[in-house]
Amino acid sequence: MKIFPNLWAREAPAHTVPKPVCHCLDPQYGESPWSELQIHTPEEQDTDCSGWQRLNELIDHATSDGREVFSPGPEMTPSEWAQITELPKTISKLKSVKHFILYGSSLVRIPPEIGEMAALEQFTPYTSYRLHWFPYEITRCTKLKDSTISTRALYGNFKYRAPFPKLPQDHPGIPSRCSVCRGTFGAAPPLQYWVSLGVATDVVPLLVHACSEQCISNLPQPQDNYVRFPHQGGLGLEQPKSYNDVHTLSVA
Ligand SMILES: [Zn+2]
Ligand SMILES: [Zn+2]
Repeated sequence: MKIFPNLWAREAPAHTVPKPVCHCLDPQYGESPWSELQIHTPEEQDTDCSGWQRLNELIDHATSDGREVFSPGPEMTPSEWAQITELPKTISKLKSVKHFILYGSSLVRIPPEIGEMAALEQFTPYTSYRLHWFPYEITRCTKLKDSTISTRALYGNFKYRAPFPKLPQDHPGIPSRCSVCRGTFGAAPPLQYWVSLGVATDVVPLLVHACSEQCISNLPQPQDNYVRFPHQGGLGLEQPKSYNDVHTLSVA
């Protein structure tokens, strides 16, 4: 069934569907003060909507035909695409996908299962302005070498140094196993830490859920223009100067 050409005719044209935005990082562009951030906890994915059902179908198709490029957005109506705030865990089945395109999505989080997309070479969530962080599990995609991410939407981005949400926080993206050693969690809740690391062509804030302090101490060290150690965020966290501050200083 070839339905792609008719999809856009079913409803209003794309430019009339409201663009997915959030206001978490607005203070970096203006004078308003920061307050402690939340990890988008209110956005639970609606799993009854047509967009969710359509996305699951697309993942099933892509799994069975073994395609190497997967870009679900253009194969959904704009309003269906805007309904997607979270990807299904079944992205773990996309073992042949080398290029994952999530252009202009409304996503607020990427599930840890992205780490099981073993063939992934190129990741393009560009203009997904509500994606402020990624799961540490993405570092398991060892072939990943190219990324196109809207970095100014990220916590701790070098341009504005937006703050990181203070951890721990309850949120729907908590993995069932340790992000670092893949061991099971004991009775205690996982230890949550942020660490900013190079992922393909970008430095991104990664959220770690670890089973132990040992696993936290095994994390790689961030490069020198980011907080150089795993941390738990909050407004009190000292970050390196922002690109904009350095630029202003050198002009003055
Ligand atoms: Zn946000
Ligand atoms: Zn562990």
